[in-house]
Amino acid sequence: MRPDSRTQQRDFLLEITRAITAQLDLSEVLRRVLHASVAMLAGRVGIIALRDEHDSLFYVRAYTGIPSSSVPSLNQKLVELMEGTNDGLSREFLNEKLREMADTIDEELEQSVAMPLVFAQNPLGLLIVFRSYQTTITGDDLITLQSFADQAAIAVHNAQLYERINQERQRLAAILNNSGDGVFILNPDLTFQQVNMAFERMTGWNTDDVIGIPKDRVIVWDKLENHDLETAIAAGWPHHHDGRSHVETIYVEGDLVRRDGMTLSIGITYAPLLTDDGRLASIIANVRDITNFRKAQEMQSVFISTIHHELRTPIAIIKGYASTLRREDVEWESSVIRENSAIIEEEADRLTSLVEDLLTASKIQAEREVKLTLADVHLEAVAMRSVERLEGQSKHRIVISFPDNFPVIQGDEARLRQAIDNLLTNAIKYSPSDKTITVGGRFTDDDVTFFVRDEGEGIPHSQLNKIFDRFYRIDDKLTRKTQGTGLGLYLVKAIIEAHRGEISVKSHVGHGSTFYFTLPRD
Ligand code: ADP
Repeated sequence: MRPDSRTQQRDFLLEITRAITAQLDLSEVLRRVLHASVAMLAGRVGIIALRDEHDSLFYVRAYTGIPSSSVPSLNQKLVELMEGTNDGLSREFLNEKLREMADTIDEELEQSVAMPLVFAQNPLGLLIVFRSYQTTITGDDLITLQSFADQAAIAVHNAQLYERINQERQRLAAILNNSGDGVFILNPDLTFQQVNMAFERMTGWNTDDVIGIPKDRVIVWDKLENHDLETAIAAGWPHHHDGRSHVETIYVEGDLVRRDGMTLSIGITYAPLLTDDGRLASIIANVRDITNFRKAQEMQSVFISTIHHELRTPIAIIKGYASTLRREDVEWESSVIRENSAIIEEEADRLTSLVEDLLTASKIQAEREVKLTLADVHLEAVAMRSVERLEGQSKHRIVISFPDNFPVIQGDEARLRQAIDNLLTNAIKYSPSDKTITVGGRFTDDDVTFFVRDEGEGIPHSQLNKIFDRFYRIDDKLTRKTQGTGLGLYLVKAIIEAHRGEISVKSHVGHGSTFYFTLPRD
């Protein structure tokens, strides 16, 4: 630098330093520092190496005047420089390495100036400028350059901090957005600060529409099981009555009215985020959809009341007939004894199949599948036996219709009998006793189909999918006056699907229903 231009240089330096420190984007800071230093020193090549926070080594992070292919060999030289610097850096060693670097770039580079970028005594990196000619650099020049480097180091440090904070913010945003639970953050005045995607899905509210608006405009309860956040705050939350602050959470559960007016059962956990001096900075809320949990609870109570009712009826009948027969003051005619015993037997059979259904259902629940014991099954013969057994319990005309040579299949006979019994029992239960029930089959090269057709009231179209659900019973007059657990079709479906088969139903309201299942022949 020529002395007469020094004031001019300093002004230029000041201006550049301002431009650099005003930047927070690290690549932009590096680019500006690099261009300013190369311009100041009239250099040809400029390099900024920064220390990597993982291995503490220096790597080239910005460069000008060289092709990207030179970067790996420069990085190698930087590693050697660092290795040789362990017990203090000697000027000779530094010069030797700078010379080697210059040679890897271009033989014609004559001079290099290296300045450490240091912030708060921490080496952040190295700024190197190579020139293609030699000039003397005075002590004053070096002081000016080093003060520029110190300013640059501050800018680099700030930009690195900003980059790290940004990465952290992105990481948190990703965690927040990918969480399956809804999350929202409230300001201390209970207005929305932030919400995540699951929250948008659950409530139907978009981020843009909720930010800044009061919580109770969005969290609207149809039914609330316990006190809401406001009550807790009125009682002093999150501070103890002794004035201490603590991170006790609040749980609120109820039916939320979504933006579209539908309701959703949710549970919200509120946690306070406190400042160092104990003031409430924000409230973080976690929202969980508890519909399934509620459904399971409901099912459990339906289950208990159904079982109670279903078991009680046959037991009461058996007890009534048995105690009648036991009366010592009456001599019963043998025909009465036979009739009453037949009823006791039928009710005992009903109890057995009920218990069998319950066991199968709870096994499916526990094991998530039906275990099969496979053997040859003559479906036609199994169907005939079911008809014989159930015929006595009804006045229906039961027609059996199987084609000749109906094939033998591989299956679990006990389970298939259970499926056929359930379909046949339903046809008996849900169709008038003066009607006909047809049990039959057909087959192709690949599969066999079994069906039970009745001439009952039929099943409305909207119910056809639901009747296979566990404990589902249609809410109509006929079903209400008919005993049942709502387990029968659920089990038939599970059994048939375990055989890799399919179940289906066709029904015309007022004309009757036909249930089919198809099983593969192999
Ligand atoms: P349930 O023990 O109530 O009979 P299922 O699972 O066997 O339970 O059947 C579920 C519901 O489907 C029944 O409650 C009844 O409303 C309806 N349903 C089943 N079979 C028939 C049928 N053949 N005709 C009319 N409705 C039927």
